[in-house]
Amino acid sequence: MRTAICPGSFDPLTNGHLDVIQRATKLFDRVVVAVARNESKQPLFDLEERIHLTQRAVGHLRGVEVDAFDGLLVEFAERVNAQAIVRGLRAVSDFEFEFQLALMNRNLDERVETIFMMPKDTYTYLSSRMIKEIARLGGDVTPFVPANIKLALEAKFRTLP
Ligand code: ADP
Repeated sequence: MRTAICPGSFDPLTNGHLDVIQRATKLFDRVVVAVARNESKQPLFDLEERIHLTQRAVGHLRGVEVDAFDGLLVEFAERVNAQAIVRGLRAVSDFEFEFQLALMNRNLDERVETIFMMPKDTYTYLSSRMIKEIARLGGDVTPFVPANIKLALEAKFRTLP
């Protein structure tokens, strides 16, 4: 049984994340989407909301689970018996940070490999930060996120001041 984790804040999940998760399911029997608590990033959606929204968005994918994590990523990987961490690479700008993160994780635990996957080219410019900004300003995010995320963004910005 080959298992990978796809970690991130998923605040919220976008079609870019979904694309990478889907690609990971072609290589692994089991893919655990690991939603980081990340309170320091002051997420728009709290952990429970992000888990719930992500679960709904990946519900159609076989072999995909959603779990929360807090603390060291490699420890979470060991806990769920994952052999690999899958991260998405959008552009050269992602590379520097991702490279450092991958090498640090390897230092912490040599047994866990990091794999990078490129999303479909039309998703390479997508980021959760930009999606939140578009939604906050009343723009249409339909092409960029699953339907349940779009509804959640609209509801969130209706209730926020
Ligand atoms: P983090 O807080 O770890 O940056 P994100 O939720 O923003 O969390 O990203 C999680 C992972 O998804 C990272 O590997 C990131 O590079 C990748 N990712 C984010 N947006 C996209 C996208 N549009 N296409 C492909 N990968 C993406």
